[in-house]
Amino acid sequence: MLNVENLIVTVGDREILRGVDLSVGTGEFHVIMGPNGSGKSTLALTIAGHPRYEIKKGRITFNGEDITELPPDERVKRGIMLAFQHPEEVEGVRIMEFLQQVLAEVKGMDMVEAYDRIVETAKELWFKEEDLMRYVNVGFSGGERKRFEILQALLLEPKLLILDEPDSGVDVDSLSVISRKIEELHEKGTAVLLITHYGRILGHLDPSRFRVHVMREGRIVLERGGEFVKEIEEKGFQKIFEECGCNE
Ligand code: ADP
Ligand code: MG
Ligand code: MG
Repeated sequence: MLNVENLIVTVGDREILRGVDLSVGTGEFHVIMGPNGSGKSTLALTIAGHPRYEIKKGRITFNGEDITELPPDERVKRGIMLAFQHPEEVEGVRIMEFLQQVLAEVKGMDMVEAYDRIVETAKELWFKEEDLMRYVNVGFSGGERKRFEILQALLLEPKLLILDEPDSGVDVDSLSVISRKIEELHEKGTAVLLITHYGRILGHLDPSRFRVHVMREGRIVLERGGEFVKEIEEKGFQKIFEECGCNE
């Protein structure tokens, strides 16, 4: 479904991705791990079409279509959703209005139908109806921000959900509801590309469900089964890189 081929990406004159190859099949679950600064968020944002990241070489295809140059909203319409590592505050835009508009644009849902669906789904993520009148992420805790990202995913039911550190800055209770909802989406057929630095969330997920890719300095240098997470946690990235001869 998603194919990333030899992707080279720069910000300003710095090369951040230095030849990334990655394939995600329909309904598959892939995890990307790697030290801070290895390029995980850059990869996620580039797949989502963020204009800051310039693709110098390589291409991205989705269901056979070349989407390398496609604007972000067109990617969303094709079923790609990114849940951000740092969801931003949007002063003046209420959650309800925002979600209604997204559902209208992406799913052609009318406002009334959308309203009911939003209230009902929000409850599953512990948002009350009055919370939905608040401005997007303004004054939200870490857990609330990440739960709000998951709420968008549950409403959109994307074909591919990219999650950038859904476990960072999140309280334990939020973490358990977030991981449960990710599993639910996966069971309903959403392919998942989950990025995590500490792997905290992976303790809540069945390792037979996913494959692990490890990034180092702008490249994916290792691909293993889900059980490999334990080894990473025990040894740390540096030792793993030494053992695989991944340090150039
Ligand atoms: P990760 O998510 O793995 O921690 P990032 O993709 O955020 O890594 O960052 C990879 C490298 O690219 C880092 O050295 C970071 O400083 C740099 N980088 C990322 N985004 C930008 C940006 N917008 N401007 C300048 N440097 C950036
Ligand atoms: Mg980081
Ligand atoms: Mg990051």
